[in-house]
Amino acid sequence: MKTILILTSKDVPQFKAEPLQELHAEMANNGYEVIYPDSREDLIKLIEQNPRVASVVFDWDDFGLELCAQISELNEKLPLFGFANQNIVLDVNLADLRLNLSFFEYHMGQAEDVFAKIRQGVEAYVDEIMPPFTKALFKYVDENKYTFCTPGHLGGSAFLKSPVGSIFYDFYGPNTFKADVSVSMPELGSLLDHSGPHKEAEEYIAKVFNATSSYIVTNGTSTANKIVGMFAAPSGSTIMVDRNCHKSLTHLMMMSNVTPIYFRPSRNAYGILGGIPKSEFTREVIEQKIAATPNASWPTYAVVTNSTYDGLLYNTEWIKKTLDVKHMHFDSAWVPYTNFHKMYQGKYGMSGATVPGKVVYETQSTHKLLAAFSQASMIHIKGEVDHETFNESFMMHTSTSPQYGIVASTEIAAAMMKGNSGRRLIQNSVERALNFRKEIKKLRAESTGWFFDVWQPEGIEEADCWPLKPEDAWHGFKNLDADHMYLDPIKVTILTPGMSKNGTLEDSGIPASIVSKYLDENGIVVEKTGPYNLLFLFSIGIDKSKSLKLLRTLTAFKRAYDQNMKVKNILPGLYAENPSFYGEMRIQELAQGIHDLMRKFKLPDMMYHAFEVLPQQEMTPHQAFTKVLNDETEEVYVEELVGRTNANMILPYPPGVPLVLPGEMITEESVAVLDFLLMLIEIGKHYPGFDTDIHGAYKQDDGRYKVKVLKK
Ligand SMILES: *Cc1c(COP(=O)(O)O)cnc(C)c1O
Repeated sequence: MKTILILTSKDVPQFKAEPLQELHAEMANNGYEVIYPDSREDLIKLIEQNPRVASVVFDWDDFGLELCAQISELNEKLPLFGFANQNIVLDVNLADLRLNLSFFEYHMGQAEDVFAKIRQGVEAYVDEIMPPFTKALFKYVDENKYTFCTPGHLGGSAFLKSPVGSIFYDFYGPNTFKADVSVSMPELGSLLDHSGPHKEAEEYIAKVFNATSSYIVTNGTSTANKIVGMFAAPSGSTIMVDRNCHKSLTHLMMMSNVTPIYFRPSRNAYGILGGIPKSEFTREVIEQKIAATPNASWPTYAVVTNSTYDGLLYNTEWIKKTLDVKHMHFDSAWVPYTNFHKMYQGKYGMSGATVPGKVVYETQSTHKLLAAFSQASMIHIKGEVDHETFNESFMMHTSTSPQYGIVASTEIAAAMMKGNSGRRLIQNSVERALNFRKEIKKLRAESTGWFFDVWQPEGIEEADCWPLKPEDAWHGFKNLDADHMYLDPIKVTILTPGMSKNGTLEDSGIPASIVSKYLDENGIVVEKTGPYNLLFLFSIGIDKSKSLKLLRTLTAFKRAYDQNMKVKNILPGLYAENPSFYGEMRIQELAQGIHDLMRKFKLPDMMYHAFEVLPQQEMTPHQAFTKVLNDETEEVYVEELVGRTNANMILPYPPGVPLVLPGEMITEESVAVLDFLLMLIEIGKHYPGFDTDIHGAYKQDDGRYKVKVLKK
């Protein structure tokens, strides 16, 4: 942090220029970089695009309050120094602004003092924006450069004793190893005991995320979910689980003998996962589910995926009020940023006040959409829990040697989101996503023939968390509840041609998997690929160039498709998988071929029905897993599944949510589940490289799939 901006008007009189030149020399001597913006606008842009700017020095006579207000919007903590000649009249408005502002007068021969104050200001600024744990860690590393108190590798010196170790060391650099501190350093406190700077970090995070208390989890939301579930759902109890859940929750149910009943979400014609309808949260429907499930009783714990995989957020205020369950958990792995933009108000777990008699949990993958190392995750709690008991569950899932780098990055993610600069980061993501959406619509309007579409309300101008209204057609859901679900603008679903809004398949089409392969071969990773839709996330790391590259590549695909290029040329990677099969095939033939298979098998219908009737629960996932461990399983072909109790979770990707859970049996009523699976397998057989990835089903040499079931 050694960059200083100095802003003066164009013609600086000599009595002002001289002291500034002296100051410049002093700064340069001390290794500071000085930049002179051309104008106020230029200065604002410089601050916006250079987070390393450490301070602004400006002429108060020419640039006063208005400049300060603009800077404050970007970063209210940035130290500002006004040089003034006239008497400084401090406006009332100025006092209203949250500013870090000091004044100097134009005098010769005082550069040293002035610079000392600026340096102090910069140091205080760095100290202020740095969160407690990271600060303590950096200080510790700085002070203990030459002692040997880090883990096995001793600050990296162990690596340096080996050729391959040295290569590794050089790649990561010294600080990685110096900061990989052992857990036994009292001055850094402990993650497992929540003491010292670790405790301060969790308190800091709780404040930033509007929680009563927060926990740092160093093994992802996969673990955060298990910690919450293990605490909130004692063995033997009944729990309510979103059927569109992450597999970590299936694992929770395999670890602890709980009886699950499921929230049944809807799906729309595009194959997009819908949300859980309002009725599923009511006492009446829950009672029906309990009655239909052996050993079930009133649930004490419920978990809902918010947002859904396609970026739909719930009206969480309504759910918190309505759902009569003590422990309410929102798995918000994909939306750790909701607290930092007002459009998400009322649509996430930590929003609003505590709910009397209930505890709300929100688990977030900090590493997914904020900036943090992999595995960085947070648990936020609103309401009171017994922290000693909660911590047993926490420790049960946490290594006694947590990675401090992950801890620090989790805390830094919170520090980044604090204040105006954090809100600005999210605002920028939202704007970038909105512009991208508009560009797609514009290209579509201007395009000859087909173009991609965006899944969003008609005619949107402003960014918002758009409500899914029952009367609207764009979303493709039937029987929607009003004021219940909202589309997050940051999650952009692109639609490929082939499916109409009511879900019927058109005569020709371009299945999304082909576009996805093309993007992949051009260095763009798609978040999720559905039958005729592709999901992209506009996280805070997406800049204009990435968003433009995506637009360009989509346009290039259209061109290549319209020219009907050979698969060999447009998808060389796919071609290489089976040159004899793809031989002279052209892209339109490939697209139409897969599309015709989708039509033949009525894919949207099949997908819809597959999730309509759940398989029958024969035993709890835990009981089934116990049988697996006791070797009471055998393998059968997928076709033979009806009437057999599944041993494993079967999870096709897409859509990426469990289709059959351990202990469940596909029966005649739920045979659509099997038909769907068989269809996925069948489609995969026709075109090399287009296999559906099905967890829990194993491909045999003859191309058929086997699954594990319990012995009869
Ligand atoms: C990714 C994800 C998780 C797991 O998070 P990790 O941080 O990868 O362990 C949990 N739930 C949902 C809904 C997810 O998408």
